[in-house]
Amino acid sequence: MTTPKTEICDAIHARRRFLITSHARPDGDSIGSQLAMAYALEALGKEVRIVNADPAPEHYRDFSGVDRIEVARGVIESDAEALVVMESGDLARTGVSGLDGRFTINIDHHPGNTNYGSINWVDESAAACGEMVFDLIEALGVPLTIEIATHVYLAILTDTGSFHYSHITPWTFEICRRTVEAGVNPAAMARRVFDNNSFGKLKLIGALLDEMNLLDGGRLAAMYLNDDIMKATGTTYNDTEGLINLPLTAREIQAVVFFKLGADGDIHVSMRSKYDVDIRAVAARHGGGGHKNAAGFKLAGPLGAVRDSILKEIADAIALGIRSRP
Ligand code: 5GP
Ligand code: MN
Repeated sequence: MTTPKTEICDAIHARRRFLITSHARPDGDSIGSQLAMAYALEALGKEVRIVNADPAPEHYRDFSGVDRIEVARGVIESDAEALVVMESGDLARTGVSGLDGRFTINIDHHPGNTNYGSINWVDESAAACGEMVFDLIEALGVPLTIEIATHVYLAILTDTGSFHYSHITPWTFEICRRTVEAGVNPAAMARRVFDNNSFGKLKLIGALLDEMNLLDGGRLAAMYLNDDIMKATGTTYNDTEGLINLPLTAREIQAVVFFKLGADGDIHVSMRSKYDVDIRAVAARHGGGGHKNAAGFKLAGPLGAVRDSILKEIADAIALGIRSRP
């Protein structure tokens, strides 16, 4: 039986040169999935380039291979016979222009993927794109080296919010078991990923939490990032990764929204929620996407009056989610 996965295996075996990319502002799952894939392709004797629109967050930079990721937004001169796109609902999400018109392998676990590839493998049940890459690598018959295992584990550790989210299955742990068997040290990985902050980032956490608004009777938290806060704490946009999860550690808080004003004047709206509070629909209504408990979208221009309607939509999602709680 042909499945997208077997089609991808055939397409890989039939080609030599690959270009790998993922979404702009890459996270742990994008970095891990791309590098695990790159190492696997190279184990098969292929040539691989990785191009991302933005650099990897600081705390991923000492992971093997991260230094080989090219950072470019413009048109890529490449003679690659196939483009492999991870984690991107459409090609525009890569932030890299001029990728269209190539033989494209689309691998993603987000709902709402537009199936823009020549082969589309979209599995919404996967806890991380890294899970899918693990399956693919196994199907390709590539041995699980320590480099591949480390990147698969990185992808799963980060995209499950360090094993907090609801897509985790026995298979997630089976993959992790095998990566540990291949030499991954979970304690060291947790330290590298989560206990690797700069003092500036700690100050940023303090400032953001200090200015956080509590709404909806304490069930909704809103945080705001702007240039002034970053300047005062000596941090960059990259330092904000993971911070949105902090307010959720408060028992009462059911959802968090983080408004991040970027240098380009756009506002990236990130949202997180607990249990059955579904914030994906809010993101989708504003042209974004994601998952039930982790979603986001981009707003062009100033926040203005949209802010209140976004907060109201999230409060409605909380009311609905809490009602459906067993
Ligand atoms: P984050 O808040 O970490 O940026 O993103 C959380 C989730 O929402 C991720 O699964 C991510 O793919 C999705 N997401 C964030 N921003 C966007 C966006 O602008 N468009 C789409 N389609 N999804 C987004
Ligand atoms: Mn992911």
